[in-house]
Amino acid sequence: MPAPRLEIDLDKVRHNARTLVDALSARRISVTGVTKAVLGSPDVARALLDAGVRALGDSRIENIERLRRAGVLAPMTLIRSPMPSQVDRVVRAADVSLNTELDVVRELSSAARTAGRTHGIVLMVELGDLREGIRPADLAAAVRATLRLPHLALRGIGTNLACQSGVVPDATNMTELSTLATGIETTFGVTLEIVSGGNSANLDWALAGSDTGRVDDLRLGEALLLGREPLHRRPIEGLHTDAFTLTAEVIEAKVKPSRPRGTLAQTAFDAAVPLTDRGDRRRVIVALGHQDVDPTDLTPPLGIDVLGASSDHLVIDPGPHHLGVGSEVPFRPGYRALVRAMTSPFVTQVVLGGGTSATTARDPEATVR
Ligand SMILES: *Cc1c(COP(=O)(O)O)cnc(C)c1O
Repeated sequence: MPAPRLEIDLDKVRHNARTLVDALSARRISVTGVTKAVLGSPDVARALLDAGVRALGDSRIENIERLRRAGVLAPMTLIRSPMPSQVDRVVRAADVSLNTELDVVRELSSAARTAGRTHGIVLMVELGDLREGIRPADLAAAVRATLRLPHLALRGIGTNLACQSGVVPDATNMTELSTLATGIETTFGVTLEIVSGGNSANLDWALAGSDTGRVDDLRLGEALLLGREPLHRRPIEGLHTDAFTLTAEVIEAKVKPSRPRGTLAQTAFDAAVPLTDRGDRRRVIVALGHQDVDPTDLTPPLGIDVLGASSDHLVIDPGPHHLGVGSEVPFRPGYRALVRAMTSPFVTQVVLGGGTSATTARDPEATVR
């Protein structure tokens, strides 16, 4: 088997998605399955659609185009405000985009005219987290301007919390979003079909049992893929947290002193140098580094300690494990590690599940790299 390799268990992803789709549908909230962490993998997208997600979302037009090329027909939303240089691609591949700038919305309108299409617009509102979004006081003007533009359909409004500043989605900011939605509908005589409340960080709020107001959509990535909520990175009950495994190969196994010798200056990636001398210890090098993964976001097997990493070397204390050259070590990636591993040309993706095991064979573009 190639190494390093990222194994994706589609059955576990499908189970996670189905569990959350069911739980949220009881609250009349649908799920947009976010595929950016898996670079728009058609295999993962199909598992999510199988499980009942209403639409797919991705922050990169390249990923949405990849899904289209693979023949995925589901509704797709670009969940990052489009780059003006990409509006032509956006209106061709995506049905809807999340928007915060009228200049971009105007460009989408003329690109949609050229493409002979109607493009859906969701206006994003800034509710405290200070990432993307129109300030609430400016929303009505943005709606008015959008409604005047041809070849566009105002589909709804949305917000995104937690990602930038860690602001928790709660009754206060979610009620503010609902109130804005109702206000827009009354003022302009329109129906906002999408009120997109946020991301995986909204799950605690959405499933707590209290009123979810007008929110009828959540854009979920991490919860579906890794079975965790991002506010405290706690596992979500009933979900698999092990759908992804990153396996790497040992290239050196020796006994060495636990403290470096010589004058110490900076390390390549700011790794901490141990203060206590534990004598001679077994030290194992795994062929994995910052170019493959975020090594600080990996959980090793029980008993193994990650001592540090540079671009291409991950040094571990193997604890009770007998790891020789050529041994394989499986790690559990967090979200940051998953994104980097998926993006690295050095990591082979292996799709498992659905009764088959194939080195990404089902998606012709995801060839072994
Ligand atoms: C990444 C992203 C999501 C999904 O976030 P998760 O925490 O992975 O659920 C949703 N909305 C927007 C705008 C995003 O950028």
